[in-house]
Amino acid sequence: MEMESNFIKTIMEEDLAEGRVKEIVTRFPPEPNAYLHIGHARAIITNFELARMYGGRTNLRFDDTNPVKEDVSFVNAIKDDIQWLGYQPAQVVFGSDYFEESYQLAVRLIKKGLAYVCDLSAEEISHFRGTLTEAGKDSPYRTRTVEENLDLFTRMRSGEFKDGEKTLRAKIDMASPNINMRDPVIYRILHTTHHNTGDEWCIYPMYDFAHPLQDAFEGVTHSLCSLEYVDHRVLYDWFITHCETKHVPHQYEFGRLNITNTIMSKRYLKQLVDSGVVTGYDDPRLPTLVGLRRRGYTPEAIRDFILSTGLSRINSTVSSEMLENSLRNDLIGKVGRYFAVMDPLPVTITNYLSDEVEWLDVLNNADNESLGMRKLAFGRHLFIERSDFAMEKPNKHWKRLSMGLEVRLIHAYFIKCEEVVTNPDGSIKELRCTYDPNTRSGSGFTGRKPNGNLHYVEASTATKAQFNLFEPLLVDSDSDRPLEERINPDSWKIQMGVAEAALAHAKPGDKFQFVRQGFFATDRLSLPGVPCFNQTVELKSRVK
Ligand code: ATP
Ligand code: MG
Repeated sequence: MEMESNFIKTIMEEDLAEGRVKEIVTRFPPEPNAYLHIGHARAIITNFELARMYGGRTNLRFDDTNPVKEDVSFVNAIKDDIQWLGYQPAQVVFGSDYFEESYQLAVRLIKKGLAYVCDLSAEEISHFRGTLTEAGKDSPYRTRTVEENLDLFTRMRSGEFKDGEKTLRAKIDMASPNINMRDPVIYRILHTTHHNTGDEWCIYPMYDFAHPLQDAFEGVTHSLCSLEYVDHRVLYDWFITHCETKHVPHQYEFGRLNITNTIMSKRYLKQLVDSGVVTGYDDPRLPTLVGLRRRGYTPEAIRDFILSTGLSRINSTVSSEMLENSLRNDLIGKVGRYFAVMDPLPVTITNYLSDEVEWLDVLNNADNESLGMRKLAFGRHLFIERSDFAMEKPNKHWKRLSMGLEVRLIHAYFIKCEEVVTNPDGSIKELRCTYDPNTRSGSGFTGRKPNGNLHYVEASTATKAQFNLFEPLLVDSDSDRPLEERINPDSWKIQMGVAEAALAHAKPGDKFQFVRQGFFATDRLSLPGVPCFNQTVELKSRVK
């Protein structure tokens, strides 16, 4: 799937055609203060795919101008996620790499009389700023001379002042209808160790100032961001113009992606992890990229999903069903189809007299022969799914096993239930069945029709297995109720069962279709001899 036409593609094509740009250069600028989620995938895929489409390049730039919230562990996690999605940044850079250049451009603004050192406190600044209906008031420090500002700014850098004592502000227009233009702060004092620059700096540039300059330094042509920055664009352009950067980048805004029933706020994700509601950022129920990966999502499915949602100028909410459909479509022809029994009911084949098992040759995926073949065991002792048996045929639609009925065991033989052995409490202990050796799968037998097709696992060669079954983490998606009250208590159910021998050595990340059950991915917490499988997605959508 290719990216369909959208407004940014149109802009890029015009820019190239009219010679305004020679090469498309984009960047993905995450703040290294959290794990990436499926919403970030829209920004990543959009930036990388657009540049690639026109033979351009994309940088990964860590927006690390706020030293307080950031951490190097997030840097590595973000790099891994982008690589996993299949993208290779042209350069990996940090906003903090440009602290010196940004500082020099702030000095340039001061020299042009376009920036001043202000002594107002944060509270006073916000009070002076005015409101949407009321113009702001000039700071009493707005008229400081260039010399005085240069001196004070140098002393801010050298550490003479305490946090919050002074700021550097752009001198724009306190009466502007756009509040962002009312002398925004461009540097603040923070005596904090930065993960990249250590204690070298005690003043840090604000995002609105640093970001356009970083785009300019890197030759970014199309600086794509989400909608909340629309009102910052004039400021972006103001800094580019007045700092007189050699290169002139432009900002374009696209709508954010939201998914029904899915939390995509960093704050809430953190709350779920910190409160222990989920097991960590890679909990398979979370929409983080690490969580989706552990759940069994493929980068191809995520890319397909993101591209199918299109790109528009408004925020959009799409159904989580759409994401699941992209996943099914990707997995269906890609993974082998195996047998696993999650709630095993023992079956003895009374007329299979040998103690040895028979190994049947089976195609791993009948729709994709390149996935090869394997051996599947059949023998005297089997397991079927408890829910595939009913003492009496419940209705005419029952296409499973019941007393006196005959079903096909897929890839093997027809079996007929002759006797039910019960426990003292009345529960079913075992089924005693006969099989018909003439009905072997592939033998061409057409003599009669079975009452359904079931999967099974041969008992003596089976491996024990754990199945993690998931439901949405949140109930009632549109509710305004607090998050803690919306947690689904059944969102992670553990089921112990068995799987066919070939699955005993499944490695973390290996993906399968379990016939009649769904798609599953092997978890990283599998124990030796007991593989653990995460339910990735059901075989069919429940929504019609
Ligand atoms: P915060 O506002 O807490 O920093 P953020 O989601 O904006 O959160 P960033 O690390 O700044 O996090 O995100 C990097 C980029 O990803 C930004 O350009 C942002 O616009 C984009 N992005 C984040 N979430 C979404 C989303 N749901 N849809 C589209 N783009 C998104
Ligand atoms: Mg952000």
